[in-house]
Amino acid sequence: TTNHLRHVESMASLPSGAGKISHLNAVILGEALASEENDFVFPSDDFSRQALIPSPHKYLEMYKRSIEDPAGFWSGIASSQFYWKQKWGDQVCSENLDVRKGDIKIEWFKGGITNICYNCLDRNIDAGLADKIALYWESNEPGFDAHLTYSQLLHRVCQLANYLKSIGVRKGDAVIVYLPMLMELPITMLACARIGAVHSVYILLPHKIVEKLDCKPKVVITCNAVRRGPKTINLKDIVDAALVESAKNGISIDVCLTYENQSALKRESTKWQEGRDVWWEDVVPKYPTTCDVEWVDAEDPLFLLYTSGSTGKPKGVLHTTGGYMVYTATTFKYAFDYKESDVYWCTADCGWITGHSYVTYGPMLNGATVVVYEGAPNYPDSGRCWDIVDKYKVTIFYTAPTLVRSLMRDGDEASCISNLVYTLKYPVQNYVTRYSRKSLRVLGSVGEPINPSAWRWFFNVVGGSRCPISDTWWQTETGGFMITPLPGAWPQKPGSATFPFFGVQPVIVDEKGTEIDGECSGYLCVKGSWPGAFRTLYGDHERYETTYFRPFPGYYFTGDGCSRDKDGYHWLTGRVDDVINVSGHRIGTAEVESALVSHPQCAEAAVVGVEHEVKGQGIYAFVTLVEGVPYSEELRKSLILTVRNQIGAFAAPDKIHWAPGLPKTRSGKIMRRILRKIASRQLDELGDISTLAEPGVVDQLIALADS
Ligand code: ATP
Ligand code: MG
Repeated sequence: TTNHLRHVESMASLPSGAGKISHLNAVILGEALASEENDFVFPSDDFSRQALIPSPHKYLEMYKRSIEDPAGFWSGIASSQFYWKQKWGDQVCSENLDVRKGDIKIEWFKGGITNICYNCLDRNIDAGLADKIALYWESNEPGFDAHLTYSQLLHRVCQLANYLKSIGVRKGDAVIVYLPMLMELPITMLACARIGAVHSVYILLPHKIVEKLDCKPKVVITCNAVRRGPKTINLKDIVDAALVESAKNGISIDVCLTYENQSALKRESTKWQEGRDVWWEDVVPKYPTTCDVEWVDAEDPLFLLYTSGSTGKPKGVLHTTGGYMVYTATTFKYAFDYKESDVYWCTADCGWITGHSYVTYGPMLNGATVVVYEGAPNYPDSGRCWDIVDKYKVTIFYTAPTLVRSLMRDGDEASCISNLVYTLKYPVQNYVTRYSRKSLRVLGSVGEPINPSAWRWFFNVVGGSRCPISDTWWQTETGGFMITPLPGAWPQKPGSATFPFFGVQPVIVDEKGTEIDGECSGYLCVKGSWPGAFRTLYGDHERYETTYFRPFPGYYFTGDGCSRDKDGYHWLTGRVDDVINVSGHRIGTAEVESALVSHPQCAEAAVVGVEHEVKGQGIYAFVTLVEGVPYSEELRKSLILTVRNQIGAFAAPDKIHWAPGLPKTRSGKIMRRILRKIASRQLDELGDISTLAEPGVVDQLIALADS
């Protein structure tokens, strides 16, 4: 940590009032736009003054304590802010993170007895939040919505928990969940947690997964269908097919509890298997609205969740209860500078980790009001997000770069003929600026590096140059934020995730695993453990050790590349597997993509390496253009020139491949491993594409390969 502390110490010596730092060529929020020339973007004095962490100095003080005495730091938070039926044993944390010293083991608060559902609901209700809105639900169709207060939510959770108990679900049993963004999804997660059952939420086509499941689930919870944008997706059909597949692998499901999502599909039209399938609405509401809590050990499993599958087959990540609870709540609070009056909206689906930690658990543990949106972010048009922001007076808006880029691409509605009606109604207004967005206070980004140009658009246009952006770097495996801005604490740099969260010690190592200092670039690892860390890969501790702890013994290896600049800021450069080596220059995919996206006619870009006779590897770029811009030779040249000017001749793409769309995981990440196969024309080796959001784009890309 000494390196990191030094960097932050030099930051901390800066005065916290932004206006005073003229020599840094500073931009003050609200006074100027964040632009290319200006490195730093400062929170306004007003923002900092009210912030939980108002200065680099305050951050440094807490960060130091968290590193010098992790046990004291975390147990202080755990005991003062959560309910424990029984306190943990003598050791707050017991760990072995070094494969050379035996099996990897991480335990936090072992022996502590608690329940995360109790801490989300009962504890907050006892503290006076019974009538506070817990969930606002917004339907895919504008005009349809619902909400639940904390006490109403508790009632719903208890009814489902009682039902699950009645069909024999016990502590430690796995429950498979395949639900869209209805209130029933967080309700289900909380109900499982209440009775100590282990939820496993899927966003993927479940048969690919269920066949591998050795957790022997008895129950699947799903709904008949969902509307996403103009489409209706019959989830129940997908589940049915998955259950046929899993039966072949010896997994038989006793009950398929199905929620009737009436706006999407009526029960008469739903395929049904008597004896196995049960309508949620027919059984759950009949159960009592109170349900005793199953008290569990801090190290009892809470959930099993598969990673996005960007780099290969998804990995079954197992999180336990106590450490995860303390970590998600604390990261949520500080990274979004949470206030009781906030209305928080995270666009992520609960089927991936962001929805676990930052739709359900983190916010609910803080007693926050959370917006859950069922539908597509650009339905009925690209203004929907801001419509929702205005409707619920959202103050914290957390999303992914992919959404930012796609909304940015849609740009001025006046230029879209398809939106002629709106154009007449709102002449020459922008999809964004037609809405007020005044309530917004903090913005957030997760999932991929956010390109500086997308950052600026998000900051300047969406946030009105007023809202700091928390660019949170973390992983399914880490449970919660690892490197993230604390919005009031220090100036931001567009595209940098800034500094580590409390208790996190990021280190950058070279190929040999030696820590490197100062301005540097290399493999991102983490030293020591933090409470939210995953404990194993389900059923495969060996793979857990091999993937994460063997590459650089003594450290947790993230798989990501990272560079640290002269001011100590961290810049994620993409996955190390994706690094391209051109004539000896190591180039991160993120760098080239950012340069391409900064071109005004480029909406999105994905870069991969291909074999090159002379250079070793060549750069192959897939480019999606802004709506309505035609492909042309001239544009191709101008894109290449942009990269050449911004990075250097060595980074200039050898090939630009026009891409109407890019293959993405359901969580919105670009799947470069598929692009690599397309680029090298190994079309029969595309691998597992089951986690793609729209597998059809692959064929489109292949069709355009030589145009
Ligand atoms: P798999 O591990 O199955 O290949 P995945 O890594 O995409 O899939 P996730 O756990 O959902 O699965 O994503 C974590 C990864 O997302 C990180 O390792 C990093 O590459 C990327 N990421 C997440 N947030 C950020 C961020 N703010 N900046 C840069 N990269 C990010
Ligand atoms: Mg990963």
